[in-house]
Amino acid sequence: MITYCKEILVGFWSLLAGMAVTIRYFVKPIVTVQYPREKLVMTPSYRGYPQLVIDPETHTHKCIACEMCSRTCPSQLIALAGVKFPGAKQKVATKYVHEHYYCSLCGLCVEVCPTDALEYSQEYRLAGFRREDGVIDHLLLLQKRQQAVGLPATPIPTDAEIAAALAAEAAAKEAREKEAAAKAKAPKPAEEPEKAKPKEAPPEEVKE
Ligand code: SF4
Ligand code: SF4
Repeated sequence: MITYCKEILVGFWSLLAGMAVTIRYFVKPIVTVQYPREKLVMTPSYRGYPQLVIDPETHTHKCIACEMCSRTCPSQLIALAGVKFPGAKQKVATKYVHEHYYCSLCGLCVEVCPTDALEYSQEYRLAGFRREDGVIDHLLLLQKRQQAVGLPATPIPTDAEIAAALAAEAAAKEAREKEAAAKAKAPKPAEEPEKAKPKEAPPEEVKE
C-alpha cells in the first residue's frame, strides 16, 4: 500500500515538473523563426556572398572594372568587363558575374578592391534548385537592391553602347599613336654651338 501511494506521489510530482517547464516556455518570448515567412537579421560580421556597395553619395556602385578582384580570386570565379565611355575619367563595369558555388568566402576580393566597391552581403538563403541559381549577376542584383530601397536603378550599358564606346576608344588610341609617330619623325631644331669658354688667367707667381 505504501509503495502504491509513493508511486502515485512520484508520478504526480513528475507531472507537475513537466507542466512547470511547459508553462515557463509558454510565457517566454518565441525564438522559433517561421521560415520562410520570417527572415533572420544577421550579425554585422556575417559573411554572405561579396556584392557591390551602393555609394551613399552617388547612389550607384564604385566599380571601375580594374579586374583586381577577378585576378586575385583563388577560385577564379569572377567574370567582369568594363569600358571607358567618351569623356569619362575611368572605366565603368559592364558585366560583373560571380559563380558563388565556388566561393570560399576568403574575402581577398573585398580586401584588394582599390575603390572599396565590394562588401559582404547579409544573405543566408542560398539554396537553389539549379546550378544557375548559384550564379549572381551583380549589376542586375544591384538594380534590384536599389529599387528595394527606392533608389534609381543604375542602367547596364547595352551591347550597342559598349561597341560605340570601344570604337571611340580605339579611334582615340589610333589618333594618339599617329600624333606620337609624327612627333618622332619631325626634324629636331639645330643645336646652338657651344660658346667658347673664357681662358683662365695663369696663376700669379708667389713672390718671396
Ligand atoms: S571571397 Fe574569395 S573565393 Fe569568394 S569571390 Fe572573393 S576572392 Fe573569390
Ligand atoms: S577590384 Fe573593385 S573596382 Fe576593381 S573590378 Fe573588382 S570590384 Fe571593381
